[in-house]
Amino acid sequence: MPGVVAYTFDDGPYIYNDQLLSILQKKNVTATFYLVGQMVNQTLQQQGSLKKMLDHGHQLASHTYTHSNLDLMTEAQMRSEISRTSDVMFANSGVRPRYMRAPEGRCSDACTKVMKELGLVISYWNVDTHDWQFTGEKTPAIAVEKSMEEINKVVIQNSNPATDSFILLQHEIHKFSVENLADVVIDAILKKGYRFVSMEECIGEPAYLEGSVLPTKSSSVAPTPAPGTSTSATTSTSSTAVKPTTAGVNGQNGQNGQNGQNGQNGQNGAGIKSAAGWTLFLTVAALGVALF
Ligand SMILES: [Zn+2]
Repeated sequence: MPGVVAYTFDDGPYIYNDQLLSILQKKNVTATFYLVGQMVNQTLQQQGSLKKMLDHGHQLASHTYTHSNLDLMTEAQMRSEISRTSDVMFANSGVRPRYMRAPEGRCSDACTKVMKELGLVISYWNVDTHDWQFTGEKTPAIAVEKSMEEINKVVIQNSNPATDSFILLQHEIHKFSVENLADVVIDAILKKGYRFVSMEECIGEPAYLEGSVLPTKSSSVAPTPAPGTSTSATTSTSSTAVKPTTAGVNGQNGQNGQNGQNGQNGQNGAGIKSAAGWTLFLTVAALGVALF
């Protein structure tokens, strides 16, 4: 889709997540977070932040459980990396991610086959801040300047929003990257004429697997199967949750909005854009609930 940039943050959640959410909210920017399963477990102070990320209209995605090279694993180990991450994310947010990014982008044929069997969307990037390489710079300003080099060259100087689009890689575990770089990246890309979107909107494949339940917003105006059933709907859909190991490739239909709320992206401009897509899911979901 021309004219869009999917802003992606890897390796969290971490202690700068809250700050990052504030920056993104202030700039009205939608992002996608590729989370590491063990980080969700270990970063205790971040408990609850997954729901906050969803609530702010961002997309959650999988970056495996241990952040290890998938190409060195057996098929069973690969499946475990995905299912453990999916389980911990589901427990903390109610969603099971469909988009995955392999650590270091390493996912050769065997890995690709497994991920496809699990119904996942393997996602890479085409412009990189390389922020992790610049954490040792003398000042945040120098680190920002170096992290902007590829963006300046590829996006700002040599692209056209009428024809081009980008998936931009950054990491939320480095202080300067959140505190100093994010603002600069956002301003430069908006000035060039691009619009920030989630991976879901950029790629056009649904964000979550079957069994996912998005948080209900109090401001929601979406139809629900019956008045005041958001809690029971959450319970019932949770109980029918399908693990990605068994969700297969048919997990992409109607998995969103099962308890009738619309648009987890409601706070952001990009989310409104995807509302039409949600309507389709709601129709399917409402039908599914009605059949029960
Ligand atoms: Zn990573």
